[in-house]
Amino acid sequence: MDARPNSPEARDIRYHLHGYTNARKHQETGPLVIEKGDGVYVEDIAGNRYIEAMAGLWSVAVGFSEKRLVDAATRQMSKLPFYHDFGSKAHSPLIDLAEKLVQMAPVPMSKAYFTNSGSEANDTAIKMIWYRSNALGQPARKKIISRKRGYHGVTIASASLTGLPNNHLSFDLPIANILHTSTPHHWRDAQPGESEEQFSARLADELEKLILAEGPETIAAFIGEPIMGAGGVVVPPAGYWEKIQAVLSKYGILLVADEVICGFGRTGEMFGSQTFGIKPDIMVLSKQISSSYLPISALLINDKVFEPIADESDRIGTFGHGFTGGGHPVAAAVALENIKLIEERDLVGNARKVGAHLQARLRKLASHPLVGEVRGVGLIAAVELVADKATKAPWGKPAALGALVNGFLQQNGVISRNMGDAIAFCPPMIITEAQIDALVDAFERSLDAALPQVH
Ligand code: PLP
Repeated sequence: MDARPNSPEARDIRYHLHGYTNARKHQETGPLVIEKGDGVYVEDIAGNRYIEAMAGLWSVAVGFSEKRLVDAATRQMSKLPFYHDFGSKAHSPLIDLAEKLVQMAPVPMSKAYFTNSGSEANDTAIKMIWYRSNALGQPARKKIISRKRGYHGVTIASASLTGLPNNHLSFDLPIANILHTSTPHHWRDAQPGESEEQFSARLADELEKLILAEGPETIAAFIGEPIMGAGGVVVPPAGYWEKIQAVLSKYGILLVADEVICGFGRTGEMFGSQTFGIKPDIMVLSKQISSSYLPISALLINDKVFEPIADESDRIGTFGHGFTGGGHPVAAAVALENIKLIEERDLVGNARKVGAHLQARLRKLASHPLVGEVRGVGLIAAVELVADKATKAPWGKPAALGALVNGFLQQNGVISRNMGDAIAFCPPMIITEAQIDALVDAFERSLDAALPQVH
């Protein structure tokens, strides 16, 4: 770190409160200041180059230097830098994007609604669900079931859906009417000898018991990520989504697929819902929708959701919800160009093909003394680290080993993140097999560097 009093690092410490950072510790360690990006690489202010193995925040599908997105933004900025959709106004990028998203959806969807972040989109989903229940004359139907270790954002309602302790502690969350059911993590939570199918059946049974205990007439929706991302890249066990959906259908409960990470190719299909046979009523999209070059998110809703909302807005006089920046023309233009690029360059196919290479290379590390589980699909994966393979015990405090290895990884030229003791990999979808090899080689060196401290 540059210790001069007016270095960028010193000014960051002086003026900036970071997201997801220990603010006290940051005063000692300072930031890693990233200056520029090029393909799958980013470069820090000292000129060190890194493979961005998280695509930023699971989001930069097309890499960090895509000129066509810059040009799309510039064109739209010159033509119409801002407009909105309140009071029946519209503009072309928004109409084009709404049409494109509804047509791309893997299940019949009716309308797109635009927001600025994944959190806002999930808050909006909750409001739509509550509004719909009132429209249907079912005011008791307000509870939403989410999952422990699910991640749905950080606003008051979406953080309540999130099932991670750090998003609740000292924030006085979760709010009422949000319930959390078990994480579908077979490796960690299955009973001895329990198959994936049996484990899935047990979780579906647990869900049904929860619904019956609460009263089915009080449950409005279930929300889940096809693959849990921030909870540690938890891939659902065999039969999970099929069995969960059977329970939801039985009680007329809506299903929200949070595709914020999985959407636009990450799992090797355009949407995670296709990979896992999920048939959602609402899909939540963000991140790779614009490769995060600009903030934009969207909800796709089917007629079961749209029709009662339309009736209720007619009764009240308006659907009293909307964001100034929702469907921003520059962000929408960038999203459209980004989706075009994903299709033109078959980045979904690349996620499947190069993703298979990533998964195979990581699985070769399964015998390493510090590796507990390797999991993932397409171009999203995690390696869960343990101090003791037999007992799956962590090294001292949970997350200590994850942080140690992640530190070595950064020294070895790879930026990743540890979700507790799981090191996540979610690189830009343009990544090549050779770049995957460089990434996994660096990870292997990092595991070996940590080994003498652990054993
Ligand atoms: N949903 C999922 C699955 C996410 O991974 C995230 C962010 O990581 C969110 C929602 C929240 O999105 P945002 O950070 O844009 O509010």
